[in-house]
Amino acid sequence: MTIRLLPEGVVNRIAAGEVIERPASVVKELVENALDAGATRIEIAVEDGGRALVRVSDDGEGIAAEELPLALARHATSKLADDDDLLAIHSLGFRGEALPSIAAVSRLAIVSRRKGADTAFEIVVEAGAMGSVRPAARARGTELIVRDLFFATPARLKFLKSARSEMLAIGEMVDRLAMANPLVGFVLTADGRLARRFEPDLGPGGLARLAAIMGRPFADNALAIDAEREGIRLTGFAGVPTEHRASAQHQYLFVNRRPVRDRLVHGAVRAAYQDLVAGGRHPMLALFLELDPHEVDVNVHPTKAEVRFRDAGLVRGLIIGALKVALAGAGHRASSSVSSAALGAFRPGGDHGSGGSRQLPLAPHGGGGFSYERPSSMPPRGLAESAASFQAPYDAARDNAADADENSDAAPLGHARAQVHGTYIVAQTTDGLIIVDQHAAHERIVFERMKAALGDGSVKRQMLLVPEIVELDEAAIERLMERGGELAELGLVIERFGSGAMIVREVPALLGQADVKSLVRDLADELAELGHAVALKEKLGEICATLACHSSIRAGRRLSAAEMDALLRQMESTPHAGQCNHGRPTYVELKLADIERLFGRR
Ligand code: ADP
Ligand code: MG
Repeated sequence: MTIRLLPEGVVNRIAAGEVIERPASVVKELVENALDAGATRIEIAVEDGGRALVRVSDDGEGIAAEELPLALARHATSKLADDDDLLAIHSLGFRGEALPSIAAVSRLAIVSRRKGADTAFEIVVEAGAMGSVRPAARARGTELIVRDLFFATPARLKFLKSARSEMLAIGEMVDRLAMANPLVGFVLTADGRLARRFEPDLGPGGLARLAAIMGRPFADNALAIDAEREGIRLTGFAGVPTEHRASAQHQYLFVNRRPVRDRLVHGAVRAAYQDLVAGGRHPMLALFLELDPHEVDVNVHPTKAEVRFRDAGLVRGLIIGALKVALAGAGHRASSSVSSAALGAFRPGGDHGSGGSRQLPLAPHGGGGFSYERPSSMPPRGLAESAASFQAPYDAARDNAADADENSDAAPLGHARAQVHGTYIVAQTTDGLIIVDQHAAHERIVFERMKAALGDGSVKRQMLLVPEIVELDEAAIERLMERGGELAELGLVIERFGSGAMIVREVPALLGQADVKSLVRDLADELAELGHAVALKEKLGEICATLACHSSIRAGRRLSAAEMDALLRQMESTPHAGQCNHGRPTYVELKLADIERLFGRR
């Protein structure tokens, strides 16, 4: 398509504003132009954080010699169709603003060879003053060279950060553009040194590209998303909840392959992961929304980083729904990086895997094995296998002989072999072993059941034989009393008891032998945080989490083999059982192969 000047009416409708804020915006605009030109390989070179040089070369369709001056004219674009429909934008650019804006604040040169042309041509602009078009040497595509950015605007130069942080911003920009365009190869060099190299990723879903940018642990565990509602398609990959980070910066969102930061989408992600990841932590994900350009307005903001959806509710629903389905489908799966962290802890001098996972309390004291308590009342071997339920944990080492038959069945979390330190269950699986944090696992199970029970109104209460009296300050009592009715619906029946105390008569049956005193105190704290206005029903997730946290199988409680196995089976059938309500893993898995490696057998 040829470049033409936009009519004034269209110009006035374009979101006004300077698009070039910093070197990373130059990179963004130039790379987007290359992508719009159908490039399959884009090379970016920067010097001094982009201040001295930004050079972008592509193998796209090129610009015809006679159009070079036009490319630099304000509001000249080849990308808006004749009807000037700003609501149907299929390309990344459409405003014809980037090149003139860059040219106005730098020394800019364009060298380009139009597809099918015998030779390349070049044009140079300095602080807005355009030279003439001359023949130049270039095999194909276009190269944009931007030198001395902001040299003519010292005020803006002053606002630039250090070369290092401008470089970081450029790197992130290239990452985002590369994620959105897995088929295109990218190379980024900074001051002559290679900073990024992404080969074209022809594999499914661009997962290899995502792995290169978001890390192997993310890609190895990520849940594939593919959903559609009323013509709006959502694809991409969502991280398992145990792969969380301290900021939302690893939540990459693309609308029609355009990297965006959008409040609505981030809000939807938060809602979907609500009770899977602790407050203040953020899951990692890369989501791609594809929809009719008429359904989304990208012309809201000069840098096009924000968008507005015509049917925001539909988009939100689609994202939450798709993520929830994927997360529920993940069931008891926990991140393998948690196991890598565990392995790292075993290895002398090993690291603890990815930053997000819990530091595992598995590091052995000197040697390398677990210690397990061996009760004096251990049943004789053999009997252990046949008795449906026996009360003592048993010695894993002694039962190896009976393994074969158990290996053949399909219990993913295996069979309990021992309880260690009254806290962890060691289970043997077909091809390895699993260590379960019994409290975390049980908490998740109770939590999910409680949510289900609340959902269908079937909460069971349990009368306390001896009502519990809890001393509290007046403010806490007030808060709890105010919510008495709602708490009763959740299964907790409390009354005022003189001044400075409350009496607890009934608790949710699911809690079992909960520590009622600390439960009530925690709830009072929680209510203080939630404030007055909010209905508990809406905050159900948080309340359930608090309740579940006080559930009966605490660390330190001895479990029978039958209880342990029952817990494993419940985990297998409980949604999200791979992590507790705080996003910590409920179990780690060590594959036989990993164990063999630890012992140098591989
Ligand atoms: P926009 O991208 O909004 O159209 P720009 O100022 O970024 O505006 O670019 C102006 C025009 O220059 C584009 O419409 C396009 O025709 C042409 N152009 C810019 N960069 C390239 C490139 N790398 N390859 C081919 N054409 C380009
Ligand atoms: Mg452009």
